[in-house]
Amino acid sequence: MNVSDSEHIAGMLQASGMKRGACPEESDLIIVNTCAVREKSEEKLYSLLGRLESIKKKKGIKVGVVGCVAQLYRSKLWDKKPSIDFIIGPDNYRQIPQIAGAPSDEKVILTHVDSAWHDQSAQKVSRDSRVSAYITIMEGCNNFCSYCVVPFTRGKEKYRPFRSILAEAKGLANHGYKEIQFLGQNVNSYIDPETGEKFSDLLKASNEIAGIEWIRFITSHPKNFTDDIAHAMKNAHKVCHQLHLPVQSGSTSVLHRMNRGYTRKDYLGKIDLLRKLMPDIHLSTDIIVGFPGETQEEFQETMSLLEHVRFTNIFSFRYSPRPHTTAAKDEDGIPFDEKKNRLIQVQTLQKKIQLENNNSVIGHFQKVLCTGKSKKDPLVYSGRNAGYQVVNFHSPTDVLDRFLRIKITACGPFSLFGEIEG
Ligand code: SAM
Ligand code: SF4
Repeated sequence: MNVSDSEHIAGMLQASGMKRGACPEESDLIIVNTCAVREKSEEKLYSLLGRLESIKKKKGIKVGVVGCVAQLYRSKLWDKKPSIDFIIGPDNYRQIPQIAGAPSDEKVILTHVDSAWHDQSAQKVSRDSRVSAYITIMEGCNNFCSYCVVPFTRGKEKYRPFRSILAEAKGLANHGYKEIQFLGQNVNSYIDPETGEKFSDLLKASNEIAGIEWIRFITSHPKNFTDDIAHAMKNAHKVCHQLHLPVQSGSTSVLHRMNRGYTRKDYLGKIDLLRKLMPDIHLSTDIIVGFPGETQEEFQETMSLLEHVRFTNIFSFRYSPRPHTTAAKDEDGIPFDEKKNRLIQVQTLQKKIQLENNNSVIGHFQKVLCTGKSKKDPLVYSGRNAGYQVVNFHSPTDVLDRFLRIKITACGPFSLFGEIEG
């Protein structure tokens, strides 16, 4: 979501006549788009702002902090970093060009929250890719998982009209885009504010757009991932057989304390259905270790779930207490070293599983969308397969932005290597 928001902000600034700077030292305006999900990203922000202060002292640049940390701390950010020129929350991005371009040195803060969707479909977006595009379909979250700050920064769920989403997707297809990724904090709960159509209807409708070959979406929530979505994934042939379905923990008691709204059995039931409908599906997940009160037995249930599901990829985190959340009110009772140790155990097990999974596709041919080129070696390219795995390969000619058939010849735990067919 932040990557996509940054592309929108860059697009708006370019439309107002600004040009992208090569580096902070050569820029007159620096906008830091922030994430508040874990404390670590906040710490990174403060150290970055420290570095920017020294540039600011040398030449009079403007520095703005936007995004979830701006929304979370609002004017309190000035107590920590008085040098910030403007603080703008996620619902106020449209005002950035006007504020950033204003000649005055007056400090500005904009953090009001909109309850309704504001259509931004007319906006110019500066996308990094010419073939793969993010399309935001909803924002906010009503779930209040006990560890998560997102409902306090992005507000309540609001949904973009179906017709606006499809118009953007068709426009992208007309400009040569081949892949679209629907975005939202909880895309499965999407409902068209005008017609009541559901997320599965959106998958079916977008499947009809000529020119688009791959459709993905992120993030799903197991509680809202209903059977009709699984069936739509199977039947809409452009929807990749790939799903990020964050489980957080393999223990029903921890899931209950997290307020996730499903049990281990519910989650595994969804995985069974998905694999029955799409035996080739690639699944990924998010894991939090060291949630307050997580016992050794509860932690082992996460380990056994990983062994059982054998995800293609996972994102794993040490629990980080966040402002306003209910979990942060409890003493977590787990020493830092123990949390660290649990994270290492999760990552070591998953690395082994990924290496085994990846080894099993050596010799297979895969469709890959080439989206990147190595900075070090001009003959090395990278892309993603339908399972959203990174595939690296050599090519003597420029194959950027093209679909290719790649024979997988080698692998590591985190990526595949291959050769272009022919
Ligand atoms: N909406 C998605 C869902 O419900 O799964 C996830 C959104 S969150 C931005 C991304 C991931 O960050 C979560 O799935 C969770 O694993 C992790 N996360 C969120 N809050 C956290 C916290 N307080 N400590 C550690 N990890 C956290
Ligand atoms: Fe956070 Fe839970 Fe909402 Fe995901 S579903 S954004 S983890 S509150």
